Amino acid sequence: MLIGLTGGIGSGKTTVSSELAARGAVVVDADLIARQVVEPGGRAFDAVVERFGQGVVAPDGGLDRGAVAKIVFSDEDARASLNAITHPAIRQVMAEQAAQALGRGDTVVLDIPLLDSSARARFGLDAVVVVDAPVEVAVARLVGQRGFDEADARARVAAQITRQERCSLADFVVDNGGNREQLGEEIDRLWSWIVGLVSQKGDRGSV
Ligand code: ATP
Repeated sequence: MLIGLTGGIGSGKTTVSSELAARGAVVVDADLIARQVVEPGGRAFDAVVERFGQGVVAPDGGLDRGAVAKIVFSDEDARASLNAITHPAIRQVMAEQAAQALGRGDTVVLDIPLLDSSARARFGLDAVVVVDAPVEVAVARLVGQRGFDEADARARVAAQITRQERCSLADFVVDNGGNREQLGEEIDRLWSWIVGLVSQKGDRGSV
């Protein structure tokens, strides 16, 4: 069973995916892999250095992420070529990790912050789960618990697709507008739904 998990910034994706991991799912984290592919030895490191030059290599030999960010911030072509190098590498590593876990019979959760309508087919997802929280709640959590500046948090939320657009992609919506206890109940509901899907798929597979 391959499940795509998404949600707006500050919606609670990481909290939900770690609870699913605690229940036995294997979580493949796009953000983590995005950082790993540009580490030395990572799949996109050499190509990024070739494209942007030795100026983006920090004294310790790793990528100077600040230097890269500075270049791509004001240069759309540079940003597009960075994405053209890193995105396929990220997708490849995610697909490999997912295939390995699926091969062991695990339930796999792909944690994809920017899941769009094409992701279902691209990753061969069995289901899409959206973690949803009102904008004001997400902003308050980002400011109160994650140290974001309020204007920055609002700008990041505004740069993403709307809640409505995101929820229209979902097979299951986790409501994270409440407190942690209520989220726990939502996760129980989600896990029961996933277990049901797994057993349906198993029944189909054995026919
Ligand atoms: P990002 O998009 O930045 O990766 P995220 O969607 O992964 O964010 P989390 O990091 O899981 O979101 O949650 C944002 C913050 O809100 C965290 O500090 C988390 O502990 C907290 N949080 C999540 N759900 C709740 C809740 N129901 N009640 C209170 N705090 C919550």
